[in-house]
Amino acid sequence: MLETLDTWLRTAAERIHDEAANLTALDQAIGDGDHGINMDRGFKAIVAALDARPAPDPATTDQAATAELLRVVGRTLISTVGGASGPLYGTGFLRASTAVGQQEAPLGAGSAIVAALDAAATGIGSLGKSTTGEKTMLDALVPAAAAARAALDAGADPAGVATAARDAAQAGAAGTIPMLATKGRASYLGERSIGHQDPGATSLALLLATLADAVG
Ligand code: ADP
Ligand code: MG
Repeated sequence: MLETLDTWLRTAAERIHDEAANLTALDQAIGDGDHGINMDRGFKAIVAALDARPAPDPATTDQAATAELLRVVGRTLISTVGGASGPLYGTGFLRASTAVGQQEAPLGAGSAIVAALDAAATGIGSLGKSTTGEKTMLDALVPAAAAARAALDAGADPAGVATAARDAAQAGAAGTIPMLATKGRASYLGERSIGHQDPGATSLALLLATLADAVG
């Protein structure tokens, strides 16, 4: 799992960089126009942290090493990304780390993805005092977590779990377009927030699309 996580984070950093202008344009429409810049800064710092990491101790299990790396990612996002998305995404990764690390039975990659997405959604919702239907990243993440769980329960392999999450996140992000924002900066716009796709839901869907590529 550690290798897949490393591959995912590096690919995600490239995709975020390529899409930064698009994410920023979405945030210009309903926020302050920094979401692409914020995400690009955070993921560049993640890649720097990956490059600086010593090789994992051979005595450490893959699951423990994966949880530890998720913790580094969360801390890095919180410390390098200004704006709401840094602490929110950072908390999501920290909660995912705990969820993956605390499982006693060795965790398969599919169940690790489900546990991580569920924990991230809960953590972001509690920090942001937010839930689905408010035009935020949760509108991509919550359905993605549910779809991943349904796929796992139906016997899907890790690639199938990640693909289900990706598809649900994409649909969820598109579903934010007609929503009225009630959380974050976009909520200041009231009715004028309607008709634009939420930047955070869009970056979330992008991250899960690269996860599906890394797992598949
Ligand atoms: P800022 O809004 O501080 O400029 P960003 O532009 O980087 O930060 O991130 C904005 C995104 O953060 C929004 O598109 C939304 O998805 C997400 N967001 C903002 N507030 C919340 C919240 N309370 N709960 C969940 N997500 C939120
Ligand atoms: Mg912003």
